[in-house]
Amino acid sequence: MHKNFKNIEKVVYGRGSFETMDSILDSKRNENDKFFLFVVDNYFKGKELEKRIPVKSEDVIRFIDVDPHEPTTDQVDNLRDEILKTKGLPAGVVAIGGGSIMDIAKAVSLMFNNEGSSTLYQGLNLVKKQGIYHLGVPTISGTGAEVSMTAVLTGPEKKLGLKCDWTVFNQVILDPELIATVPRENWFYVGMDTYIHCVESETGILNNAFSLAYAEQSMKLCREIYLGDQAGQTPENDDKLMVASLMGGLSLTYSEVGVCHALSYGLSKILHYKHCYGNCVAFQHLGDYYPDGLKEFNEMLKKHEVVLPKNLSKDWTEEQITDMAKVAYNLPHMWNHAIGTDWKEKITVDTIKELYKRF
Ligand code: NAD
Ligand code: ZN
Repeated sequence: MHKNFKNIEKVVYGRGSFETMDSILDSKRNENDKFFLFVVDNYFKGKELEKRIPVKSEDVIRFIDVDPHEPTTDQVDNLRDEILKTKGLPAGVVAIGGGSIMDIAKAVSLMFNNEGSSTLYQGLNLVKKQGIYHLGVPTISGTGAEVSMTAVLTGPEKKLGLKCDWTVFNQVILDPELIATVPRENWFYVGMDTYIHCVESETGILNNAFSLAYAEQSMKLCREIYLGDQAGQTPENDDKLMVASLMGGLSLTYSEVGVCHALSYGLSKILHYKHCYGNCVAFQHLGDYYPDGLKEFNEMLKKHEVVLPKNLSKDWTEEQITDMAKVAYNLPHMWNHAIGTDWKEKITVDTIKELYKRF
């Protein structure tokens, strides 16, 4: 099977590149009902960046607090319904924030042109019509959401992305200045998401010269950022992290994630763990699958004095563990990549339950 993937149409990269947004949007302003919807992380409300967002009088700006929970199908449906009812169809959607904000913007841009609830479109290529123009500006780097062809939403039944070519941003602005204020712990967990993307992309049957090239470069940058002589949250490393995140995302696009992400999805869906943190919590127990990756991950934890919780499973009920195992088991593409085409002979819901019991 040969994957045929769409990349971001246009990318601006560099310090201060946020200022290019106004002129980029100008050429799109005459589309549909001639206004833009800006979806912005609530962190920026009242901050200096807010004044620099090129919002015109006809535009709509929504500040969203992403901390209470990861993006949901309801949140996206309600946003679309409200905007269509009060203002009409935007010329485009602009996301300024992390993976949560970017996923909300990607999903809502599709939902403006697709009827019914976004729950109908959770999966691969279920979206019927192309969405509206959407531009992404990451303010925290690591998830690769800026480049991926999925918008991950949690619905009543599943945590699954709206995944298709049209999900990919038309335009991305990568301005490393914007990630300088990310709290240290988030900076660590989100960077480890990139690192784990690369480990998982490399370690599985779908890897190939194309995905490996991106993973190798992204990992090299991660090592400089998190382990090198100049390791730490510096402007030079922020320049690198933005690129590492993008390349890690591209690597898994052309390959796949694996065991850690499958387990992390279970943690998110049942226990509401955040994606990057959940990955870190899971990865520390996956030495059987990723021995080299875990060794290096442990060095990074030590260097940055990050202590992950252990003995968590003693407080989980058997039912919660079973439910998480079912969520993880239902991600066959990840197990197929990580374990091989005969994965069903090696991995059962019970095997996965045993993995969770290590946590
Ligand atoms: P996030 O968007 O959830 O934000 C994490 C925290 O960082 C929030 O408190 C936010 O307010 C804060 N923040 C963001 N930018 C900041 C800044 N510049 N300064 C200070 N604080 C800042 O973070 P994330 O880890 O990037 O995204 C996680 C989400 O991404 C999850 O919902 C996950 O499902 C999704 N995800 C999507 C993909 C994809 O391919 N679409 C891949 C992985 C994860
Ligand atoms: Zn991830």
